Amino acid sequence: MIKVVNGRLPAEGGWRNQDLLICDGKIAAIGDLSALDTQETWDLLGMLVIPGLVDPHVHLDDPGFTWREDFATGSAAAAHGGVTTVIDMPETSLPNARTTEGLLAKWETVRAKAQVDYAFWGGVTGAEVQDGSFNRTMPALADLGVVGFKTYAISGMETYPRVSYGELREIMKQAAVLGLPVALHAEDYAVITQATLEIERRQGRSWQDYLDSRPAVAEQVAVAAAIQLAADTGAHLHIVHLSSGRGVELIRAAKARGISVTAETCPHYLVLAREDFTQWGARMKTTPPVREGWDQEVLWQALQEGTLDFVATDHASCEYPKEKATGSFFDAYAGIPGLETFLPLLWQEGYVQGRLSLLRFLQVTSEMAARLYGLHPRKGGLTVGADADFVVLNPAESWTIRGEQFFSRGKYTPFEGRRISAAVERTVVRGIVSFQKSGGMQSPIGDWIRRR
Ligand SMILES: [Zn+2]
Repeated sequence: MIKVVNGRLPAEGGWRNQDLLICDGKIAAIGDLSALDTQETWDLLGMLVIPGLVDPHVHLDDPGFTWREDFATGSAAAAHGGVTTVIDMPETSLPNARTTEGLLAKWETVRAKAQVDYAFWGGVTGAEVQDGSFNRTMPALADLGVVGFKTYAISGMETYPRVSYGELREIMKQAAVLGLPVALHAEDYAVITQATLEIERRQGRSWQDYLDSRPAVAEQVAVAAAIQLAADTGAHLHIVHLSSGRGVELIRAAKARGISVTAETCPHYLVLAREDFTQWGARMKTTPPVREGWDQEVLWQALQEGTLDFVATDHASCEYPKEKATGSFFDAYAGIPGLETFLPLLWQEGYVQGRLSLLRFLQVTSEMAARLYGLHPRKGGLTVGADADFVVLNPAESWTIRGEQFFSRGKYTPFEGRRISAAVERTVVRGIVSFQKSGGMQSPIGDWIRRR
């Protein structure tokens, strides 16, 4: 048993001194525990304690793309950034997690390397619908405890084909039977393919050309179509990395109609805008791309009011600068290593700036994702009986984001130089210290958390 004293926990209207008791990796009690004697006591000296963050959308690239990231470096980035649970995507590992064999091969590779707990997405593509195997692979993956199924309306990976809307409908029917969400990368294939062709005709290679090739309307067309398919099939639709204000309006209207839909956005859509490409170039290239200042404002409001359900990083690292400095913006790798800037940016730009209440900050960084993916109440909150996953934050230590200090293999960030007013002092997973400012990264202790 460990008694954690002199920590300040989130409470109604602010922060309150509360002790924690950890027993067998779980939170056994919260409150005034001064009368209790334990062998081990951690004195937090008035620092802040928040639930460990849950990042439900990461690409840790292992096995298969490990020159970009692997599970050791990616999960160390998580621990360094205060993220205690990551949910790894099925397409950025080879073999893909589209079959139980692929998923178990990934688990074998990563299980001894994890600094934090993890869950897995199941994969399904148009190929499994065409050959009919999705009716076997999806239930088998569900039996293993995947949190849902990831699909792409447009795919940049030959190894992970896109779905047509017809194929998506069949996948949704199966997912509805299984009671699992279908996540969609929502950018319309036909709109982007034609727009790209027009730009190739004029030999466009700049970031402005790239933005023109992936217009916000491509997102709106795909979101609108997927919402209709969710209404038709009864499946739960989750839109990943929503980037546009008009996309928010579609989600809001669908929720008002009672359609089972949720959506996430990412720190880069909240914090960056179009004009920032002049400074950061390909370092801030993602799919979909960062939009306008107007979109940014709508995304923040939607996050606070609940139209957007939570934030995910879409953590995707690459070999830098080689894969970003390719001469054409179109060939540059799309992805930002975000695990180490998730908590800092949401804290600073969300909570400290007053765009998010304290309660909403906690919900969008841990609780809501844990709920959607069947990890709650074990993950996503500081409650008695939950896993003792928490972050100790030092509110007196301000610091500056520097990519070179990342544990991620990708030591670059478009958030370089931003000042953050609180620092992660310690990251605790099931009562075990995974990262500590003085002492660095500890032994890997992460476990696979299966959907309940
Ligand atoms: Zn992604």
